Amino acid sequence: MSTVAVIGAGIGGLATAVRAAAEGRNVALFEAAHEVGGKLRQLELGGYRFDLGPSLFTWPDLLVETLQQAGRHAAPFSFSKLDRSCHYFWPDGTRFTAWSDPETLSKEIARAFHVDPGPAMDHLERSAEGFEATRGLFLEQSLHEATSWTPAKTARHLRKAWQGRRALPLTQTLDRWNARPGHDKLRQLFNRYATYNGSDPYRAPAMLHVIPHLEFGMGTFAPDGGMHAIVDALYQTALNLGVKFHLNTPVERILTEGKKVKGVRTASGQEYSADVVVSGADVTPTYRRLLPEHKAPERILSAEPSTSGVIFYWGVRHPAPDLHLHNILWAEDYRAEFDALFKSKTIAADPTVYINIGSRTSPEDAPEGCGNWFVMVNAPAGWQPHDLADLRSTVMDKILRMTGIDVTAHLECEHVLTPQDIASRTGSHRGALYGPASNRPTSAFLRHRNRDRRIRGLYFVGGSVHPGGGIPLCLLGARITQELMEHHDPC
Ligand SMILES: Cc1cc2nc3c(=O)[nH]c(=O)nc-3n(C[C@H](O)[C@H](O)[C@H](O)COP(=O)(O)OP(=O)(O)OC[C@H]3O[C@@H](n4cnc5c(N)ncnc54)[C@H](O)[C@@H]3O)c2cc1C
Repeated sequence: MSTVAVIGAGIGGLATAVRAAAEGRNVALFEAAHEVGGKLRQLELGGYRFDLGPSLFTWPDLLVETLQQAGRHAAPFSFSKLDRSCHYFWPDGTRFTAWSDPETLSKEIARAFHVDPGPAMDHLERSAEGFEATRGLFLEQSLHEATSWTPAKTARHLRKAWQGRRALPLTQTLDRWNARPGHDKLRQLFNRYATYNGSDPYRAPAMLHVIPHLEFGMGTFAPDGGMHAIVDALYQTALNLGVKFHLNTPVERILTEGKKVKGVRTASGQEYSADVVVSGADVTPTYRRLLPEHKAPERILSAEPSTSGVIFYWGVRHPAPDLHLHNILWAEDYRAEFDALFKSKTIAADPTVYINIGSRTSPEDAPEGCGNWFVMVNAPAGWQPHDLADLRSTVMDKILRMTGIDVTAHLECEHVLTPQDIASRTGSHRGALYGPASNRPTSAFLRHRNRDRRIRGLYFVGGSVHPGGGIPLCLLGARITQELMEHHDPC
C-alpha cells in the first residue's frame, strides 16, 4: 500500500488526506500548529466563538463530494442555504440586499438603484454562462498536464465554452466589463468579486466575472455550527479513515533521493518515509525552506501576492438589527482603495469594511442579544501596521457613521490579526489570503502546478497553487491532486 505524507492541515491538506486514505493509501499528516484548520481555525474568547478566517461558504457540493469519498467513514456535516448573500451600505445612505431569489433580487435592484434591473440580471446570466463554459477547463483539471490538453479533451472544452453561448469577455478588465449594467453602484458591487481571490478589479481580467455566479447562481450557505464545522467534518472523516495526525510537528525538509521523494523530516529531526509527499503548505516556503537544494520556480514564486487583511474580532453586546451575516460598508472611492492596496501598498484612508456576524446563523456562538463580529479591511500582503489604533478608530467611526452602532460602547472582548500574524500562524507567504493575485490575463497559468514534474511523488494543494484560494478551489485542488496521484503514483 502506498504511503502518503501530507504537510499542513488546511482545507487542501485535510481534503487530500481524506481522498488519499479513502483510496486505501496509508496517510500521515504533519501540521506545525497544535490544531488543524490552517486559516480556518477558531478562537473562543469571553463567551464568544470566532471563526478566524473564512466566513463565506459557497459551492458546498464540493465538500459533500469530498466527504462522500469516505463512504460509511464520513463524518456528518449539514448546512443550510441563505435567503440573501450580503447587505451593502453606501456612504450616501443607499442600502441594498443581495437576495438569493432572482425575482426578489430584481425588485431590490430596481428599488435601491432606480434602474431597470434587466441589464444587471443579464450580467448575472453572463456570469453563469461564463462559469459553466470555463469550469471544466480552468477549475476542474490541471492546466499543466499534457493529459489535460489532448486534442479530444481540448475540443470538448472549446465546444462547451462556445456552444449556444455568448462570447466570453477575453480582453477587458473586470471593471470595464462591470460597466455593462450601466450603474456606478452595481459596477462597484460586481467589482468586489475580484477581492474573492484577493485581486484588483481595475487590473484583473474580466474572466473573473464568473465569480458572482457562485453566490447569486449557486447560493450562499451556512454550515450548522459555523465555518469551523467544515474543518471538524474533514478532520473527523480523516481520523475515521485512519489518517495519522502529527500535530505540533513542523516539517523541516522534504526528503528526496535522486529525482524522487522519499519522505519528510520534522523539525525535531525525525524522518518518516513516504512514496508520495503532498505539500498543503504555501508553495513559496515549501520551496524556500523544505526543498532548499532544488531549483525553485522563481517566476511563479515572484508573482504579485493577493491581498491580506486586518481583522478585528469583536464581541459586541448589541442586537445590531440592520446587520445580517455578511455586510459591506463601502469606501467612498473604491478605485483609490485598490490603488492604495496594490500601488502604494497601504490601506486607504477610507477602506471598505466587511462585517460578518456568525452568530446570526449560529446563535450559540455569542451570548443572547450579542454578536461575534468579524470585521475585516483588505490590506496589502506583508503590510505592517504603524498604528493599529488609528485603523481601529477609522473602522469604528465608519461603523458608527454608516450603521449608527457605537461599537466602543458595546465592546466586550477583542482580538486582532494582521497580515504578519496570518503569515506566522499559517505559513502563508506574506500573509496573502489567496496565494498569488489574479491581476493578469495569464495569472491562471502562473499558479504553481499540483504535481512537480521534476521530483517524482511530489504534489501541491491549497490556496497558493492551482486552481487557487478559497474553500471551494482548495477542495477542487485536492480532487485534481488525487486524480494526478492515481495516474502517476497509483496505490
Ligand atoms: C481572514 C481570512 C478570510 C478569508 N475568507 C474566506 C472566505 O470567506 N471564503 C473562502 O472560501 N475563503 C476565505 N479565505 C481563504 C481561505 O481561508 C483559504 O484559501 C484556505 O483556507 C486555504 O487553505 P489551504 O489548504 O491553502 O491551507 P492553509 O489554511 O493555508 O493552511 C496551511 C497549513 O499548513 C501548515 N504548515 C505550513 N508549513 C508547514 C510545515 N512546514 N510543516 C507542517 N505544517 C505546515 C500551517 O500551519 C497551516 O495549518 C480567507 C482567509 C483568511 C485568512
